[in-house]
Amino acid sequence: MTEWKDGIAKLTLPTPFPVGDVNAYLIDGERLTLVDAGVKTEEAWASFLEQLDMLHLRHSDIEQVILTHHHPDHVGLLDFFPHSLEVYGHPLNERWLNRTESFFQEHDEFYRKLFHEFGIPAKFFELISLLKESLKFSCNRSLTGSLTEGDKPMGLSEWKVIETPGHAQSHISLFRKKDGILIGGDHILAHISPNPLLEPPAPGEKERPKPLVQYNQSLIKLLSYPIQMVYTGHGEEVFDLSMHVEKRLARQHERAMTVKSWLEEESLTVFEICKRLFPTVYKRELALTISETVGQLDYLESIGQIK
Ligand SMILES: [Zn+2]
Repeated sequence: MTEWKDGIAKLTLPTPFPVGDVNAYLIDGERLTLVDAGVKTEEAWASFLEQLDMLHLRHSDIEQVILTHHHPDHVGLLDFFPHSLEVYGHPLNERWLNRTESFFQEHDEFYRKLFHEFGIPAKFFELISLLKESLKFSCNRSLTGSLTEGDKPMGLSEWKVIETPGHAQSHISLFRKKDGILIGGDHILAHISPNPLLEPPAPGEKERPKPLVQYNQSLIKLLSYPIQMVYTGHGEEVFDLSMHVEKRLARQHERAMTVKSWLEEESLTVFEICKRLFPTVYKRELALTISETVGQLDYLESIGQIK
């Protein structure tokens, strides 16, 4: 049942990905705002229209869209809307939405170099072009305008943008102070620990981002806000954020210390560590598992445990 609650309606949309359904939210502000827009499939669009119908709305009633981040399951449906629809998000969404040949080249080059550094056997290199497979569920368009730290989105005077990079470099969350509600995208998920996905350096930067270190910082950052409840990108709401953050950080630290104990015994490549952490999954999900592995090493380095 899709319904309004305190000016927010949660829509749950199917995806073809292992993660299952994705959430999108309507905010009844001065402008009717959609936060995130499921994958580009007929099923997702049909489900979206059906849920709008329960709210007595049509898709043309939506006045603007805000993206929490650029992943296909949060942006793809935009291709079903007219191009004139206003879409706002962090500037780093742009390279993933309005994809150019030079970005693809940069992307592949970035991964090729990393795979080489990580000791990944050549037979896996063909996976690099497959990494972009999921982009067929994404959209092709440009942002109308950008949202960054501290911004109040147009037409949403009660809401404020908090940058929460880590899971994606483009990730932002929306916070409403009056009742402590956060729309947290994939930064906060009740039962899954969000993958700190490796991405090419931001335009103009040379070094790759360290997504797990960023992710942890973004978690800790949220603790300074009086957050009562988090609407998540997948699954249920999170109510006790500080306990959630504490648990996530503790579990991640533990995993990193396991990796450190292996490195005390012998030297290992990133790929060898990845295989130990994810003995069966790594073949199927190399980008995710390598990102997670590098994350543990970046983390250990950041706390001075390894060099
Ligand atoms: Zn995501």
